[in-house]
Amino acid sequence: MDTGVASDTADELYRIRREIIAACYPTTYCETLADGRIIDIWHRPMADGGWVSTYDDVTERRQAESRIAFMATHDALTSLPNRALLRDRLSRLASPNENHESLTALLLIDLDRFKEVNDTLGHAAGDKLLRLVALRLQALLGRQDLAARLGGDEFAILHHATDAGGTAALAQRIIDALVAPYELDGNRVNVGASIGISLAPVDGSDPEVLLTSADLALYRAKSRGRGNFAFFESDMTASAHRRRVLELELQQALLLGQFEVHYQPQVNLKTEQVTGAEALIRWRHPARGLVGPEEFISIAEEVGLIAPIGEWVMRQACHDAARWRDGMRVAVNLSAAQFRTNLAEMVTSALVTGGLPPTRLELEVTESVLLEETEATLRTLRQLRTLGVRISLDDFGTGYSSLRYLRAFPFDKIKIDRSFVGEIAADAHGAAIVQAIANLAASIGIETTAEGVETKEQLDLIRSKGCTEVQGFYFSPPRPVSE
Ligand code: C2E
Ligand code: MG
Ligand code: MG
Repeated sequence: MDTGVASDTADELYRIRREIIAACYPTTYCETLADGRIIDIWHRPMADGGWVSTYDDVTERRQAESRIAFMATHDALTSLPNRALLRDRLSRLASPNENHESLTALLLIDLDRFKEVNDTLGHAAGDKLLRLVALRLQALLGRQDLAARLGGDEFAILHHATDAGGTAALAQRIIDALVAPYELDGNRVNVGASIGISLAPVDGSDPEVLLTSADLALYRAKSRGRGNFAFFESDMTASAHRRRVLELELQQALLLGQFEVHYQPQVNLKTEQVTGAEALIRWRHPARGLVGPEEFISIAEEVGLIAPIGEWVMRQACHDAARWRDGMRVAVNLSAAQFRTNLAEMVTSALVTGGLPPTRLELEVTESVLLEETEATLRTLRQLRTLGVRISLDDFGTGYSSLRYLRAFPFDKIKIDRSFVGEIAADAHGAAIVQAIANLAASIGIETTAEGVETKEQLDLIRSKGCTEVQGFYFSPPRPVSE
């Protein structure tokens, strides 16, 4: 007895049926026909020598199942394998009883400046960029290699390596391929890439360990600046642990009131009068003594603690400065991350609570704030400016020193980085740069402060270049407010 199927490929089904009947035992199996259809066959011989078979066309169900399986293991945007599939492949490739000769390299790739593209050109452009990145990655891979998207702007490559040298060369090729400009709806866009690499079985064979190791290497690569790659090294685990401890300690420090603000005077070069002071945070660590900001600000930025720490400094500085003689200004440093909070509101509240007129507050931002330049950042700066707060551009000369930033926002002051001031007496280049910045500032009518003046000789040279203000150990190092 037959039930079910209406088949165009009758001959084929007939052949299958004959084989099953001839075999004469109960069976259930699945046949793919020449036209691609998939038939489930159920066959039972009867005691009287007859039989019952059903033929079930399951083509659509099977296709839906394989689509679901694909979706579960692939990224919808780029169609690359996803994290789950990568992990699965990693566990098979890296297992020690696999081929002993071969190395498996895991490369974690993080795009630099992707967020800017998303923010300025919109998410559709961001999506398009990610698809182009996926294509460029696939074009670089060998037949056995695998590219995956782990989410956001993070990609990974599983590479059958012969040695570390070959892997390093691949990493460099990837970086070079990804920095080439992209065309997105008529816009020319540049992004870069940083890469962290772990090797199996050298660095481990557990997928989680390999992913974590590559991630630590990626962190190291990024800290060397954009467009770099780094291999995992065992000391990275220890430094990740130190970072974690530091993060917990910083949270404690905030709760226990272990931070202090010290102030360094800023001196007007014409009048030789102190016009204000810069607030510089210090950490009174119970075991390590007084710790400088260089050792903890960047960690605080990374772990998201800079907003509460920065707010604490702002409130303390406004409170302290309100008690100084009239006209003395206080300068407070801001991190880029603080522009992603409601900064104008926080500053207003600190001024009001501390009782400091806005004209006596100066905010120091670095180019990194403008690097993430969005309408929102500029709006915040203008809002603060409208209050009467002054804005200065800190550490000028160390970053891109792009004149574009000077045009993007009308700063009140440029602070020339102390590295140029330190060289001014010894090096003609340093002197020329200080001169150029001072001239530029004078021509657009803004002040210049030279940072890090330590000697009389430097002071005289700075004065001759036309800077308007100085700050440095020559006059005073940063000191507690009581002094
Ligand atoms: P900065 O804003 O450029 O501050 C000037 C730095 O130069 C201070 O280092 C100061 O102690 C140092 N300095 C001043 N005069 C001299 C000198 O004559 N010679 C030398 N060698 N150094 C001099 P400090 O206090 O270690 O601060 C380092 C950086 O940490 C600051 O650089 C600033 O970027 C950041 N920072 C400090 N306090 C805060 C804060 O409250 N919030 C944020 N976001 N960053 C802060
Ligand atoms: Mg500063
Ligand atoms: Mg500075």
